[in-house]
Amino acid sequence: MRLLILGPPGAGKGTQAKRIAAKFDIPAISTGDIFRANIAERTELGLLVDEIVKAGKYVPDEVTNDLVRNRLVEADCERGFLLDGYPRTSAQVDELDSMLSSGGHALDVVLELTVDVDEVVNRLMKRAETEGRADDTEDVIRHRQDVYVEQTAPLVHVYSDRGLLLRVDGMGEVDDVTERVLTALAPLDR
Ligand code: AMP
Repeated sequence: MRLLILGPPGAGKGTQAKRIAAKFDIPAISTGDIFRANIAERTELGLLVDEIVKAGKYVPDEVTNDLVRNRLVEADCERGFLLDGYPRTSAQVDELDSMLSSGGHALDVVLELTVDVDEVVNRLMKRAETEGRADDTEDVIRHRQDVYVEQTAPLVHVYSDRGLLLRVDGMGEVDDVTERVLTALAPLDR
């Protein structure tokens, strides 16, 4: 199964992505996690994106696309994958289309987690306390929401027009959201 998960920062994508991936026995690939790991290890990529990620801005498409292209050809992606946090721009959608079609593949489904923006901001403020992410200050949180609305929310329509969109209510307890998501995805399990 090849799928991706969309939703604003703080919608709980990362948590749900890991659970869905475990259920379908595919890797959950989070571009944000990969950037953070590179920043922590001070790799060349990490140094390049450090300031951008801290400011809550988007890493340039070429950099992100290269990273995903290299990741998707790894052996564990042969049976499928779940992308979390990619694509985030229409240029990334185009690039993902070409990565998939060159391998003779296509997306099976695009999952959108819908949430209330106030709840999202609350979740992010809590995460700031527990995880201390550098991009979880209030200003940056608000900026990331704005960037999502401007650049990534429109992608929902792109995938909806293709008949791929599955919308799931992301509000409430994490376990309840997981149950909703897995129930919605069950017909696609093959
Ligand atoms: P996330 O953990 O998905 O919220 O990502 C954290 C940060 O990593 C984002 O705010 C961006 O700075 C960067 N990032 C992650 N994925 C992408 C992407 N697909 N395109 C551009 N920047 C990204």
